[in-house]
Amino acid sequence: MSVWVVVEHRNGEVRDVTAELAAAARGLGLGPVTGFVLGGPGETEGPAAALPAGFDRVVRIEHETLRGGNAPAVVEALGCRAEAEGPRLILGAHSAAGMDWAPALAARLGAPLATDVTALGTDDGGLSATRTVYAGKLQARVRLAEAPTAVVTLRPGAFAPAEGREAGAAEAAAEDLPADLGRRFVEWVQEAAGEVDITQADVLVSVGRGIGDPEDLDVARELAEALGATLSCSRPVVDLGWLPKERQVGISGKTVKPKVYIALGISGAFQHVTAMKDSGLILAVNKDPKAPIFRVAHYGIVGDLFKVVPELTKAAREARG
Ligand SMILES: Cc1cc2nc3c(=O)[nH]c(=O)nc-3n(C[C@H](O)[C@H](O)[C@H](O)COP(=O)(O)OP(=O)(O)OC[C@H]3O[C@@H](n4cnc5c(N)ncnc54)[C@H](O)[C@@H]3O)c2cc1C
Repeated sequence: MSVWVVVEHRNGEVRDVTAELAAAARGLGLGPVTGFVLGGPGETEGPAAALPAGFDRVVRIEHETLRGGNAPAVVEALGCRAEAEGPRLILGAHSAAGMDWAPALAARLGAPLATDVTALGTDDGGLSATRTVYAGKLQARVRLAEAPTAVVTLRPGAFAPAEGREAGAAEAAAEDLPADLGRRFVEWVQEAAGEVDITQADVLVSVGRGIGDPEDLDVARELAEALGATLSCSRPVVDLGWLPKERQVGISGKTVKPKVYIALGISGAFQHVTAMKDSGLILAVNKDPKAPIFRVAHYGIVGDLFKVVPELTKAAREARG
């Protein structure tokens, strides 16, 4: 038995979640852990030399079609090997890349799949996983069907990372992949710099869909003004066109770590929380006492933001004189 880990890397850098994958893989005790570093020519050597601890073996596979982590090529490269070698588990991150290759790889192998997993274990020789459902309000425990190989993606930030670095020698493996897999990577496009940089703010007043109407953003703006804070938001607020993308907090927006983060009408989906949970002090206002945001908040106010926020603004103005 063995566990394979698909190393997450971009622009030559290993992403933090790789250390979490390595630790989770080791913790299962399902045999040696092999890290796979996949990419185009010249893309894998740097990341393979900068891996966290936890791998018994590291395999680098380079091919033009793997450039940029092109998912169809990842599926092809790992699929062929997995059919031949039969790892018990193939583990990746529940990231944009993992969401792309993992379901396709599971389909190709006819393997059971669990995505966005927050806890993973073995019982009676089988694999069981915990996933959140209904926007984080419920936890579902699932048992993966018996099969030679399972595919699982782990939620970034949900597992403790492996400590330390390990620049062991990586084997370079040749892979004969088809030149045309129907899709190829072209380039990473850097987002243009906007007017505000929410990552630099000491205090963020962040609004979610609970604000209900763009006209009502003024309620949050006034609080931000009274506190000398910057306005940020959740993704739906951007998708609805109420605030620009540069103000979005979350996995598809910015990761922030201000001294104070005030969440107004934000439910606390993991895609949002992952990117603000390390803030110094988190205050959440939400009318739903079961909103997941309260799990990470240091202070929580259960109530209607349209009643609570004007009171906070008043208190902030008085405190500042
Ligand atoms: C691939 C992917 C990437 C994503 N990336 C991001 C991301 O980067 N950032 C992000 O934020 N989301 C992201 N999401 C979306 C995420 O899953 C959630 O849908 C989103 O965070 C929910 O935003 P919200 O909390 O503002 O809205 P909702 O979940 O609709 O929550 C609104 C909250 O407001 C409360 N509320 C309503 N009215 C009031 C009131 N009057 N007073 C007080 N409280 C009130 C409700 O109780 C509720 O909890 C992503 C999703 C996917 C699939």
